[in-house]
Amino acid sequence: MPLIIKDEYPEKLFREDGKRLDGRKENELRPIKMEVGVIKNADGSAYLEWGNNKIFAAVYGPRDVHPHHLAKPDRGILRVFYRMTTYSVFERKKPAPGRREKEISMVIADCLRPVLFLELYPSTSFEVFIEVMDADGGTRCASTTVAALALADAGIPMRSLVSSVAIGKIDGKIIVDLSGIEDKAGEADLPCAITWFNEEISLLQFDGDMNLKEMNESLDLAKDALKLIHEKQNEALKCKYIEIQKEEEKNSQENDNGGVDLK
Ligand code: UDP
Repeated sequence: MPLIIKDEYPEKLFREDGKRLDGRKENELRPIKMEVGVIKNADGSAYLEWGNNKIFAAVYGPRDVHPHHLAKPDRGILRVFYRMTTYSVFERKKPAPGRREKEISMVIADCLRPVLFLELYPSTSFEVFIEVMDADGGTRCASTTVAALALADAGIPMRSLVSSVAIGKIDGKIIVDLSGIEDKAGEADLPCAITWFNEEISLLQFDGDMNLKEMNESLDLAKDALKLIHEKQNEALKCKYIEIQKEEEKNSQENDNGGVDLK
């Protein structure tokens, strides 16, 4: 599915066969792939492909706070830096972080903070660097999801993971996980996130037009989608430890054989 070309939105966002332009059903997520431990120099990291979105998240912490005056004597601080690369969208994006990136960084930090035990880490910082390499709608949700995974990969104690997805309205119908074109040409966009330890919504933004019934329908659809995303996050984490276990088994076999691989 090509990325959006400005001012060239289609009149209809559903095809004649009732499917969305990329062939999805109303309640269907785009394909999602996640992997943890992808950046060696970070304390924790993760990579996510979600439809056409491609996003890295890298975590450092707990470590000293820079600049020092931001340090809190009674707790650690969480800082999130969401950035879209210049080449991540059809129209060249200015390299300097704009207002949108600052806002998204702030909402992601607000959304992740409840799952961390910041009170156990006075005068330290946790930093999450998010790089959107390719963007096609829903990057704040995808970034929140991959950032939570990178924090877990860093071994930072967490109450739970956080998962996020956007629900929207196109051609009068409520749909899950808007693509870029659906975000731009649709009638509403409702990004939300859940903290699993208390099943509370930790992000809810809204742009567009929906009545109360549609809003309730959206939240119901979000619940099912968020569960699927959570499963994929858990799978990505487990995958890393299965690989480590295999490696350990291989090493101990080699040691038993006097360090010589007999295969
Ligand atoms: N976008 C763009 N140029 C920009 C910012 C955004 O082309 O400077 C595109 C990008 O594909 C993004 C989509 O517009 O995913 C929707 O952006 P929005 O601000 O709604 O945030 P998102 O849906 O990515 O969380």
